[in-house]
Amino acid sequence: MHRRCARILPAVSVGVLLSAVATSGQAVITPPSNKYTVAQDLELGQKAAAEVDKELPMLRDAAVTTLTTSIGRRLVDAIPQELRHPEFRYTFQVVNVKEINAFALPGGPMYLNRGMIVAARSEGEVAGVMAHELSHVALRHGTAQATKATKYEIGTLLGAVVGSIIGGNVGSAVAQGTQFGLGTAFLRFGREFERQADLLGSHIMADAGYDPLEMASMFKTIQQQGGSGGPQWLSSHPDPGDRYTAITREAALLEVQDPVRDTRAFTQAQARLRQLPAAPSTEEATRKAAGRAAAPVPDGRLDPGRVAPPSSAHTLYTEGDLFRVGVPSNWRELPGGNAVIFAPDGAYGEGVFTHGVEIGVTPNEAHDLRTATNELVASLARGNPNLGKPSGYDRVTIGGRQGLHTVISNVSDTTGQQERIAVFAVLLPDASLLHVLGVAPRERFSDYEGTFRQVVASIRLME
Ligand SMILES: [Zn+2]
Repeated sequence: MHRRCARILPAVSVGVLLSAVATSGQAVITPPSNKYTVAQDLELGQKAAAEVDKELPMLRDAAVTTLTTSIGRRLVDAIPQELRHPEFRYTFQVVNVKEINAFALPGGPMYLNRGMIVAARSEGEVAGVMAHELSHVALRHGTAQATKATKYEIGTLLGAVVGSIIGGNVGSAVAQGTQFGLGTAFLRFGREFERQADLLGSHIMADAGYDPLEMASMFKTIQQQGGSGGPQWLSSHPDPGDRYTAITREAALLEVQDPVRDTRAFTQAQARLRQLPAAPSTEEATRKAAGRAAAPVPDGRLDPGRVAPPSSAHTLYTEGDLFRVGVPSNWRELPGGNAVIFAPDGAYGEGVFTHGVEIGVTPNEAHDLRTATNELVASLARGNPNLGKPSGYDRVTIGGRQGLHTVISNVSDTTGQQERIAVFAVLLPDASLLHVLGVAPRERFSDYEGTFRQVVASIRLME
């Protein structure tokens, strides 16, 4: 569960915050606790970047590169002394896709979608998104999130990070042709980290010569231009609450140093982008990349013949600050992009599972439970063309809250076999949607249904 009240400092440091506020007025931003080393941030980010470079089309154009590197360099130079990590390697790439999005990896690699640059109304707006992303990197939010969220070893974490970028933030698991759209929770940033990135981003902007208000106006632009399916950027960077006002308030306390006046690079980059052939969607681009990739089940781990029945013993897992859940002890925890899958050996391949459960949390823009659940089912249908229609929902209790349940038939694209998907969904106090998808082959579904219900009944939301 996500925190409802954002706070910048851990409770123990409140005294520090107050005294700092008393002197300067500006927010003091302390990096969250992190069990990973700075070197691991770098390693993780570099490995993930290598994957991203394979999966997404990079735009290599002189005018555009000039813009992003000049803004990037200014911003990096404005990172406060105590948050500088000399080991980090900041790079700024432009992804040739049309959606408005951007993301940054631990240790420095940043990616800006072409659509983001096109949508920006000024150089300062581009700088605003970049300053926000840079702040997540400098504060090491990716690994801090992993510290909270998981007990994953570094190798597993890499998979989760890459999955979240490819599967959640940039496109969707659906775009990857994977069986189930992995949600967008475990590596999307929480509201506390968002508030930190907004505040630090505004400090960095002011020091770099940009008006922090342009970050706020860019967020408005993103919100307005999100298009159908909602703006992707906002899914991974949820509004911590009153974002615009908070940035405006902070901006009033900041003095823009040596304001950037020459913004020809921005004008030239936008002109150049208008000349280039239209950018594909992320889905089109990743489908192309997937077409170049190997077989759908690379490890050959998917082997329904050797799937053991669910153990009656249960193992308890804690998923970050979201929830606890008990699952059969012979199921493995497989961190996906932003959801987690629990499945027995033989029942999963890359992006696919035939027996087990997926649990995830997705942001939900103020819809009621039924609408949000319909959207969840619709997102499943996009990745599973043979998915049937739910005949209706019945009520179920999940984590002490009222949720919905239904069962949908499907024909697995991978195995060609009939399967059943039990869908459970509930709104969390912050209005995001928690879902549990229980999957089993049709002929085994009645054996598994009880297990799915036990898993759901074991869920405890964490306050
Ligand atoms: Zn963010």
